[in-house]
Amino acid sequence: MDTLNRFLFDNHPVRGEITRLEETYQAILATNNYPVAVQKLLGELLVITSLLTATLKFEGDIAVQLQGDGPLTLAVINGNDRQELRGVARVKGDIADNATLKEMVGSGYIVITITPKEGERYQGIVGLEKETLIGCIEHYFMQSEQLMTRLFVKTGVHQHKAIAAGILLQILPANENSEASLAHLATLTETITSDELFQLPIDEILYRLYNQEDVRLFETDEVHFKCSCSRERCAASLMTLPASEIDQILAEDGKINMHCDYCGADYLFDKIDIEELRKKNVPKAVN
Ligand SMILES: [Zn+2]
Repeated sequence: MDTLNRFLFDNHPVRGEITRLEETYQAILATNNYPVAVQKLLGELLVITSLLTATLKFEGDIAVQLQGDGPLTLAVINGNDRQELRGVARVKGDIADNATLKEMVGSGYIVITITPKEGERYQGIVGLEKETLIGCIEHYFMQSEQLMTRLFVKTGVHQHKAIAAGILLQILPANENSEASLAHLATLTETITSDELFQLPIDEILYRLYNQEDVRLFETDEVHFKCSCSRERCAASLMTLPASEIDQILAEDGKINMHCDYCGADYLFDKIDIEELRKKNVPKAVN
């Protein structure tokens, strides 16, 4: 089971989260044959998005997107407050196994979009000013939220399957000692190994890192892979295309295949389906 837990320190104005993702990560990797470096980056992006999603104080969606002019033109993870996550990357050209963030993305930036169910959409953009994705996101928190945040993320293989896990530490606002506390706790957290983070029960990880501290661990939230695609959504976007374009594809192929890059689902529409859609979609008379 993929999990997310929140925790607090009784003696430090710092909050924490820990997430461990196996099935969700594997589902994202399964749909496309990504280069090794992109797989790793998607794992980091997935862990970061899960951790950020848990900071949402309302119902809504969050998207963390990397885009640039390098061979990795796009990498995005979408999540929501129910910890349902999905993601995809687009690759044009070769990416070496040990490619750096800059080598993959080129000149680019990170866009964080938060869409509450009710209320204003918020978008934050940060340039790739640090060498790693983690560094860039920590920088984003300082710049846009003035909340000093530390992230510890590891990706790898456990029992022959992909796994990604991470810890977030973030200062609680308006507290004088929070920066020193964060630095102290970050020093402890840095000592976590991949094996520990991938394998130990969560309470043992916290004990291993913070046994000198008083930590309160909250109940476990489950994290799931879930794609928001549907036949209805595909139909709606099909109907935004010019009718002549649809007719041309039907004439050539006999059907239209809408493929979801996120989950690999295929939605097929033949001539009869399109006729049905057009009947339902008759534009209203304009007065
Ligand atoms: Zn899908």
